[in-house]
This record gives sequence, C-alpha cells and structure tokens, in this order.
Amino acid sequence: MKFIRENDKLYIVDTTLRDGEQTAGVVFANSEKIRIAKMLDEIGVNQLEVGIPAMGGDEKETIAKIAKLGLNASIMAWNRAVIKDIKESLECGVDAVAISISTSDIHIEHKLKTSRQWVLDHMTEAVAFAKKEGVYISVNAEDASRTDINFLIEFAKSAKQAGADRLRFCDTVGILDPFETYEKIKAVKEATDIDIEMHTHNDFGMATANALAGIKAGANFVGVTVNGLGERAGNAALEEVVMALKYVYKRDLGIDTKKFRELSEYVSTASGRQLPSWKAIVGTNVFAHESGIHVDGALKNPQTYEIYNPDEVGLERQIVIGKHSGTAALVNKFKEYGRALPESEAQELLPYVRSLSIQLKRCLFDKELIYLYEEHILNKKVI
Ligand SMILES: [Zn+2]
Repeated sequence: MKFIRENDKLYIVDTTLRDGEQTAGVVFANSEKIRIAKMLDEIGVNQLEVGIPAMGGDEKETIAKIAKLGLNASIMAWNRAVIKDIKESLECGVDAVAISISTSDIHIEHKLKTSRQWVLDHMTEAVAFAKKEGVYISVNAEDASRTDINFLIEFAKSAKQAGADRLRFCDTVGILDPFETYEKIKAVKEATDIDIEMHTHNDFGMATANALAGIKAGANFVGVTVNGLGERAGNAALEEVVMALKYVYKRDLGIDTKKFRELSEYVSTASGRQLPSWKAIVGTNVFAHESGIHVDGALKNPQTYEIYNPDEVGLERQIVIGKHSGTAALVNKFKEYGRALPESEAQELLPYVRSLSIQLKRCLFDKELIYLYEEHILNKKVI
C-alpha cells in the first residue's frame, strides 16, 4: 500500500538498515536486519529505509522478505537515479523508493563529471518511471548542503513536477550548523512547498541539532538511525531526535520510547559498535548520579537533575558511590539493602569511601562499600 502522508504530521524515517549498514565495517546478518525492522515497526517508526536492492544477492532477498512482513511502517528501498535500480526495488515489493543523485557542483563536476542539466534529466526520468509504478517517491539531493541554493530549488521543483512526493535534503558531509540549515530549508520550502526530509550527518557533532533546525524551518520528515549509526561520524540518532522533540519542542510523536535501550543494545551488538556509557538518551550513565549535591537533589525529587524518568527510555536510575559521593548517597545505598545507616556513621564512613575511590580511580562496587563499613565502623563498634 502506498504511503500517504497527513498534513501537520512529522514522520520518522529510519535508515539504520541502509545508511547505518553503510558504516565502514558494519554488516548485519539477514536475520538481524529482519529483527531490527520488526523492532522499529513495533515502536511506531513510520518508514524504514531497508537497503539497496541493486546490490542483488542476500541484500535484495532480505529487502523482499522485510517488504512481505506486513509491517505497519512503509518500506523504502534506496536507488541511484537509474531505471534498472528502481526495477530491482519494485521486484522486492517495497511501497516506497528513494531516488538519489548528487546536486552540488563539486559532485557534479568531480564525481559524475557531467552537468546540472544531466542531473535534472536523469532525476526526472527516474521519478517519472517510479511514478508510473505507483510507489511513494523520495528524491534525494545528495550533498544538498553544498548545493547552490537556486539550483537546489530548481531541482526540487522539477522533482515535484515529475511526481516526487518529497525531497530528501542530505547534508552528506555534515558541514552545516543549525542556523544555516534553518535558512536553507526555509528557502526551499517557501519556494517549492515540497515535503522535505532532513538527512543529516554528525561530522561536527551537529546531526541531531541540524535535523531539529530543519524541522523548525518546515521539514516534515526526519531521517535517523538507531545509536546514530551511519557513514563516518554517523547520522542523527533516532532516540535523540524523538526525545528532543518531546522534551525540548514539546512534540510527542507517539513512539514507544520505553524500548529505546533494548533497541540500542540490540543494534549495538548487531553492528559491533559499542554503545558508550555517556551516549545521549540511552547510555547507562545518563541516569547515574555520583556527586553529593546531585544525589541529594535527585533523591529528594528526581526532577531536580533529570528531565524525564529513566524508565521512559528503558533505563534505571543509579546512585553511584565514589569520590564525589555525599552522605545522602551512602544512607540511600544502605537503604537499598534494607539497612538503616545513621547519619553519624555515614559521616564517619565517607572519608574512607573517598580515599579508596581515588586510589582505585573509579567508583566503588557495593561489596567494597560493605567491606569499608565492616572494617571502619562495625569492627570498631565490636571493640
Ligand atoms: Zn547519509
């Protein structure tokens, strides 16, 4: 069934299985691709870009399998602006195609070694062919961020006229900042009124910020990957974009975010890319508190140092005992074990906790804390 968009709705397009897998050194097993597609569909992602049928073999077979799963999400396949590629996609039974071609002069002159007119001709020919077949069409302007804005507008207008449903604005090399992104998207939107998808890369650490800036300027689709997996420094991360929209922009897309941690762990394992503990939204450290002041506040009311509840993304709050701990953390830790630690004993214990943590250059395991308590507090009491 063809993907039909509604007015004023913002759509998530996940490309973990295409751009994510294009990351140097990442290969998903076919079964992993299917599992990831199912998980993304389950949490409510609207469209999944699942691969490149023109690669043939396993890749094409898996795309066909995903298309037959009967998911709610629209299934999109990636293509060059080549009719043979699009035919391969159609054979897989996908309901949507992305047709990609470079629009910047640097790409046109040095990679394609051709002209702007050639780009327009090939794009419109490919779009017209796909349009006849009745699939949803995204036209991807590769290197859109470095494209002359007047040519980009001309390109978008031609795409729309040829029957494209949207323009994918690709910051292929991740060179934009949010301010410039906003200006460019606004200009294209005002001149063409075409649906726009943001596709941003993280080379300067601004992929998520740029995606949000594009949305603010009128883009109604946003391309993401789980964990921000993707070429080089990666793409805008699904979990970051969704949570930032919800809490920074107060725009709840209705995604089941409680499964974010589980999904991130699965993709991390399948991609062989470790998930850093400090990864925004899904890192294990995101709800870990150590410093005395933070722990005291978080225990009194979590909202003092947390924007949302950890279970909203499938994480748990952790009070870590270490160099920066205060007595409130110690009392709370003992309470977790059903022991009441008097404030005076917590005061006594604290210097030992700090010095052991400095010596070990890390936080303490619960067992180590108990040893310290036994050695310095309990044994003294017995004597
Ligand atoms: Zn990309």
